Amino acid sequence: MPELPEVETTRRGLLKILPGKKILRAEIHTEKLRLPIPPEISAAIKSAHVTDITRRAKYMIWRLSNGRDLLVHLGMSGRFRHSAKKDFEKTKHDHFILYLSDNTVLAYHDPRRFGLIDWAKQGTADHSWLGNIGVDPLSRDLNADWLYENLRGRKTTMKAALLDQKMINGLGNIYVSEALFYAGIRPTRIAAKVTKLEAARLVPAIKKVLNAAIKSGGSSLRDYRDVDGQVGFFQERFTVYDRAGEPCRTCATPIRQITQNGRSSYFCSHCQK
Ligand SMILES: [Zn+2]
Repeated sequence: MPELPEVETTRRGLLKILPGKKILRAEIHTEKLRLPIPPEISAAIKSAHVTDITRRAKYMIWRLSNGRDLLVHLGMSGRFRHSAKKDFEKTKHDHFILYLSDNTVLAYHDPRRFGLIDWAKQGTADHSWLGNIGVDPLSRDLNADWLYENLRGRKTTMKAALLDQKMINGLGNIYVSEALFYAGIRPTRIAAKVTKLEAARLVPAIKKVLNAAIKSGGSSLRDYRDVDGQVGFFQERFTVYDRAGEPCRTCATPIRQITQNGRSSYFCSHCQK
């Protein structure tokens, strides 16, 4: 699943492609992703161009020159492919295709169809999908005081708390394992028992892990590709994730793997308390 770093990498990639280019034609090849794609989008964005793309958690908001905003979410398997028009061949799961004025084509490809392409109301917080989501982990909303207060009432494990998208939106399995390592907290710890000092360590750990992944172009797990078809290399630098039995990079203790709520967690039993 594209996680927040992949979405941010995609946003940055699209910002290099879309602004300044007129959308000559927009084709919808699938009626419904997570929700129906409003059929009038094709006519409404023809001749417009994208002026900016912002992000809130894993949602992208495309601002159009005609004053409307498009909400785009990559779902479980969505990605964009950009190519010269002469090289473009539509494939089975290309659901939304934009033909641009520089003779290139941008195709939204999503085999599992959990993505979202919809109008966002002007003033994006109004969109129903954006009303219920947790804080963006890269925004100032995620700070030590806020995190400590929000963990205090939770009897779940730290792993479950950090994966709760209604608290922090956009943290996936990989980044939770890595951030907990940097903060020295085991994924099995009860959230309510995390100290203020630990919460204060966890905030920069989360931001560090996400920013490192963005810098290397996303994690590239599960065949993730950014819009230019480049593969990210973040996984070569995982500290604990997917390293069961291998030595901790800090203390050489073998990394442990456990299953929590059906998903793997990785930690160092020496470095994390
Ligand atoms: Zn260690």
